[in-house]
Amino acid sequence: MITVGIDVGSITSKAVLLNGSAWQSVLRPTGYSPRQAGREVFDELLDKAGLARADIGYIIATGYGRTTLDFADKAMTEITCHAKGAHHLVPGADMVIDIGGQDSKVIFTDRQGNVADFSMNDKCAAGTGRFLQVMAAAMGADVSELAELARGEEPVQISNMCTVFAESEVISLLAEGVGRGRIIAGIHRSVAKRVTAMAERIGKGELIAFTGGVSKNEGVREYLARELGREIVVAPESQLAGALGAALLAREKLLNAKVLHEKK
Ligand code: ADP
Repeated sequence: MITVGIDVGSITSKAVLLNGSAWQSVLRPTGYSPRQAGREVFDELLDKAGLARADIGYIIATGYGRTTLDFADKAMTEITCHAKGAHHLVPGADMVIDIGGQDSKVIFTDRQGNVADFSMNDKCAAGTGRFLQVMAAAMGADVSELAELARGEEPVQISNMCTVFAESEVISLLAEGVGRGRIIAGIHRSVAKRVTAMAERIGKGELIAFTGGVSKNEGVREYLARELGREIVVAPESQLAGALGAALLAREKLLNAKVLHEKK
């Protein structure tokens, strides 16, 4: 029983192929066309696995570009898919914090990784990967370098939540001679505070899985753990949680259909 999950996000598109307990993945930038990016990660994944479309039992698409993939069997929301995938990557997690390119979400799950409650910010760039990208660009750095540059630095206070004003604030701080490391540490803390405020509106988990591209940033993880007073677990494949969850849900669909068929 082979299934595929495709997560077409605002910044990256990911595809996961699930075959029993083994899985493989492909990730590439989404670019300007979500439809094309979704198609490309799927084709690349089939190539990698040496399979054809006909070998795939069920395909679920998720992410902001999910409705553009006409070859998928079904589209499902990111909340459902991320919860399922994160729960698989961090068994026993009861809370998922996902920070992607253009939104951030906090999801509470039950023991099976189904959504019990959630809160989402997709209206404002503050507290998302986009905020970090804008700030990194203002400081001539890449997002992948931020954690290293801020390691051990005392965070400076970033007062503005709005991305545009915060960018001006960062430029002023640089002009005043404040070190890049301190500014970046302040930015990490600002993202963590924003997401913590959102999380605390619905509760506090015991075991927290952190997913999405921003989970690769060790600085944000540290401040989240400090703000929430909880351990935060980041699985190595955490950016793939949505696509993995979609592939797992596709497998559940096939299994349920099989049970129904056998009952008839
Ligand atoms: P989406 O699903 O919306 O496309 P992702 O979950 O792929 O978003 O996350 C993209 C974000 O992850 C980027 O905006 C960036 O801030 C962050 N990111 C990506 N790669 C890295 C990295 N190597 N280190 C730190 N942050 C990263």
